[in-house]
Amino acid sequence: MKPDASGADVQKVLQVIEALGFRGHTLPGENRTAIGVTGNRGSIDPAHFENLPGVADAIRVTKPYKLISKELRPERSVIKVGNANIGGPELAMIAGPCALEDHQQVFATAETVAASGAKFFRGGAFKPRTSPYAFQGLGEEGLKMLAEVRDQFGLNIVTEAMDEHGVDAVVKYGDCIQIGARNMQNFSLLKYVGQTRTPVLLKRGLSATLDELLLAAEYIMAEGNYDVILCERGIRTFANHARNTIDLSIVPAVHNLTHLPVIVDPSHGTGRNYMVTPLARAAVAVGADGLIIEVHPCPEEALCDGAQALTPSQYMELVSQVRALHELISEPVSAFAEGHGP
Ligand code: PEP
Ligand code: MN
Repeated sequence: MKPDASGADVQKVLQVIEALGFRGHTLPGENRTAIGVTGNRGSIDPAHFENLPGVADAIRVTKPYKLISKELRPERSVIKVGNANIGGPELAMIAGPCALEDHQQVFATAETVAASGAKFFRGGAFKPRTSPYAFQGLGEEGLKMLAEVRDQFGLNIVTEAMDEHGVDAVVKYGDCIQIGARNMQNFSLLKYVGQTRTPVLLKRGLSATLDELLLAAEYIMAEGNYDVILCERGIRTFANHARNTIDLSIVPAVHNLTHLPVIVDPSHGTGRNYMVTPLARAAVAVGADGLIIEVHPCPEEALCDGAQALTPSQYMELVSQVRALHELISEPVSAFAEGHGP
């Protein structure tokens, strides 16, 4: 749309899209509003829109993904999660334990995370464990602890949902639904979170290509939830010196193709305590919009992922290092656009 297009002009375009049997998606930007069209099988004649009032241009998106693409929205998206942003000029820090274990562990960790200046707290109440006999998480009881953490420390809550019931519970207690690596291509779950209006942290699948990750994000956005944050968490390769191989080249690749923010998880990406801080620094250096880090008051006693958990003091040191690095390489604030979604 033209910069001076009115709300009525936008509505008119949406009506025309609907009358054709398609779906319109309004994405307001800094200078103009873009309207994406989905549901069409072939190309649509631009003549349907070109001469409507307020329309600047009708552009054919050439990629298999549309709503996430920079062709639709050239400025980077800033996603509001609770009362803080992911994707803006500030480096987003999300930290907390792998799994919520008990009140004492959760609150001790939250105190460290809040003291570090991070704005987001992570912790799984529903855990996707490889073995059915491993600790599966506290379930709703854990989510209630997270809601207490938010009240007490003002931290915004990021937590995983593995199924529709979990999504409903996370929407009730949390600020951001994490879709784990193992569910990245659970298409019915992606559609379900797409129908909520809670932001989604979408982790890259264990063997997913960039295109597969982007199309998974597109699934969520096609349902009308435009608040998606991507996360690189390492992939399976033949290398066995780390739990996974962290693929940092995906960060500039994501920024090249999409307007979505992308964060890095060096905890799952390496699986090794001593590698987490070096790879966190590297992630910031390649332009990641944030980090998600596992911290535990006593890693040797952790019920899940203890080998990659940082102690509180290691975590504090990581934060001071990555903040210094981020300041050094920051892009001008004008690269980002506030406000997103209809
Ligand atoms: C997690 O964040 O604790 C987790 C299970 O991550 P992933 O889905 O990346 O393995
Ligand atoms: Mn974990």
